[in-house]
Amino acid sequence: MTDTLDPEEAKAAQIERGRLLFAQSCIFVAGAATEEMLPDLALNEVAFAGRSNVGKSSLINALTNRNTLARTSNTPGRTQQINFFELGGRLSLVDLPGHGYAKASKEKIDIWTDLVNSYLKGRPKLRRVCLLVDARHGLKVTDREVMDMLDGSAVNYQIVLTKVDKSNQDELKSVLEKTKTELAKRPAAHPDIGLTSATKGYGIEDLRAELASLAEEIGE
Ligand code: GDP
Repeated sequence: MTDTLDPEEAKAAQIERGRLLFAQSCIFVAGAATEEMLPDLALNEVAFAGRSNVGKSSLINALTNRNTLARTSNTPGRTQQINFFELGGRLSLVDLPGHGYAKASKEKIDIWTDLVNSYLKGRPKLRRVCLLVDARHGLKVTDREVMDMLDGSAVNYQIVLTKVDKSNQDELKSVLEKTKTELAKRPAAHPDIGLTSATKGYGIEDLRAELASLAEEIGE
């Protein structure tokens, strides 16, 4: 005989698992600016990508209840680095360098593309990439380029809208509909879209819950 939880109880239990996981210590373990520097890590992994200024540091800090985690290792001038954090011994959080910076030179874009492609091709434990998109703007050309890379590497990814506090309901609805239509044509895209505001705390516990479902199981 199996005990089945009703959907609300199951959701509450998953939210609690997310809360507990993200209440654990989160430590910086490595930064990689080249393919050779990419670390081999044992844990399941979730990566965060997004255009510069999308609110990626703010979201990672909100998820982990820290003010400075995503910035500590992001020293100016070294933004082309992939940063690896370990959360509670159960999940690696990976902060990919921001893309789509308007003033980036072709050389910088090529370095970014090579680094991120090397990362995506060599991560057997990578369970998901959260592609952060500003809720006011929706998907941009450079986001689509990243989605092409993710589809090409068969890496499961999910769109997470950021800064939803800056949009009204109608704007948000329209961006959501357009984004959903585009995702339907993308083989590696997760159909659900996250809605978050790091400053207001909106959607953070749901995202924690979702990511906790991708973490290593707790050992007996
Ligand atoms: P990153 O470059 O993607 O790491 O972006 P940051 O986290 O540094 O955020 C860029 C700017 O957006 C900063 O001025 C943040 O204060 C602001 N920001 C980030 N998240 C939110 C949010 O949820 N709501 C609002 N209103 N502003 C945000």
